[in-house]
Amino acid sequence: MSSSDILVIGAGAAGLLAARTLAQAGRQVLILEGRAQPGGRIHTSTEGGFSEPVESGAEFLHGDVPLTRQLLQEAGIACYDTTGTTYEVAQGHAQPAESFFEDMPLLLEKLHALPQDMPLSQFLGQYLAGDEHQTMRQQVIRFAEGYDAADADRVSTFALREEWSGNGAEDSPRPEGGYGRLVAWLAQQAQAAGAQLQTSAAVATIAWEAGRVTATTTDGRQFSAARALLTVPLGVWQAAPAEPGYLHLQPELPAHRAAAQALGFGPVIKVLLEFDAPLWQEAAPQLSQALPELEFLFSDAPIPTWWSQLPDPRPVLTGWLAGPAAHQRRHTPAADLLTEALNSLAYLLGTTPAYLREHLRAHRIANWAADPLALGAYTYPTLHAAEARATLASPVADTLFIAGEGVYEGPHIGTVEAALVSGAEAARLLLGQ
Ligand SMILES: Cc1cc2nc3c(=O)[nH]c(=O)nc-3n(C[C@H](O)[C@H](O)[C@H](O)COP(=O)(O)OP(=O)(O)OC[C@H]3O[C@@H](n4cnc5c(N)ncnc54)[C@H](O)[C@@H]3O)c2cc1C
Repeated sequence: MSSSDILVIGAGAAGLLAARTLAQAGRQVLILEGRAQPGGRIHTSTEGGFSEPVESGAEFLHGDVPLTRQLLQEAGIACYDTTGTTYEVAQGHAQPAESFFEDMPLLLEKLHALPQDMPLSQFLGQYLAGDEHQTMRQQVIRFAEGYDAADADRVSTFALREEWSGNGAEDSPRPEGGYGRLVAWLAQQAQAAGAQLQTSAAVATIAWEAGRVTATTTDGRQFSAARALLTVPLGVWQAAPAEPGYLHLQPELPAHRAAAQALGFGPVIKVLLEFDAPLWQEAAPQLSQALPELEFLFSDAPIPTWWSQLPDPRPVLTGWLAGPAAHQRRHTPAADLLTEALNSLAYLLGTTPAYLREHLRAHRIANWAADPLALGAYTYPTLHAAEARATLASPVADTLFIAGEGVYEGPHIGTVEAALVSGAEAARLLLGQ
């Protein structure tokens, strides 16, 4: 059995930053990562035959994210803004989109008059009832499900109010070359400071007592340390004992598990398609609806949201399905999801799925709720989330520590920034700072 000062479970953004900080402070750190490579929900690669790396997970910097920007700068990774036209397609007809919501001032007025928090669906039913608000209700639900990956029956209206009052539609730059470069840099820095990284080491059981932790992997290897930092995603905390990905804790932490259940963790299916040319740029005999300079597209198709890589001219489109609709498809085979994506895109472009297939050069389906090392995509705010997060994040007997995007408290919920901030805070706590 190998022994170190601190076991870090999970080599995502949170685990890697914590490991780097701890190793640089002179601690013996061993990172145990279930996947074959570090990064977790950051996964930048050419898998699937892409001509250049594409993002299965995190892709954009959402708004002002100071720690992400600072680390990208330290790593020498530039960011670039997205460019192009945002479209909306309804009943087969595309037009440049004006705003996310039909009547934003009315929505904000109703939101600001709300005296107490409630789930979004209840708010809409109570304060925006009536036929005249039907489109608005649909748009609001579509946005909460699509962007926040949230369930409208659970998501906090107060939290959405804060998000939307802050003018949700911020710039969303991308890191040059993808987020994977940040992961590679963090992993290299952590290892240069002495941290060990063990990949393909999925932990099945964590046995602990005050001052001692033993992690046993699914293939029976054992690793021990005085303390452990758990950075597994919220989906893993929420998993039922019989579910793949369930992490046994001996003894159990019932208050932590209950807190995890009270939080929201939304599913996302990301469909990446590379074509032999940007077919959507111009109308053609086989394609009746062109979307020149397509940046983002929101629609009534089964896979409703799409974007290009502009200003990068690669003929790559990304399809996005989140929230309850993605949950329903968590067990759908990838081949069927590809068919559904091509059907949606054919509808949006006024062409046939066969035409698109003919021009398809590479594809990848990232179904995050089906991934046993994630069991979802990212956190969304439920009612009373702050209390639940505080409980889940609370250290146990100065021995078990918890970090990751799911326990982050602040304005950047569900992001790489959330993971990094949480990893940095956990490291400080472990160092007694
Ligand atoms: C589709 C998608 C799109 C996203 N888009 C964006 C975006 O554009 N911008 C943005 O800022 N954020 C985005 N996010 C969110 C962002 O990716 C995450 O918030 C962040 O990467 C989470 O980092 P983390 O370290 O908390 O968790 P993770 O990255 O999930 O790291 C946890 C690690 O633990 C490992 N693990 C799990 N269980 C075990 C086990 N039993 N044993 C060992 N290892 C285990 C996992 O393999 C993983 O590597 C997106 C996420 C998804 C899924």
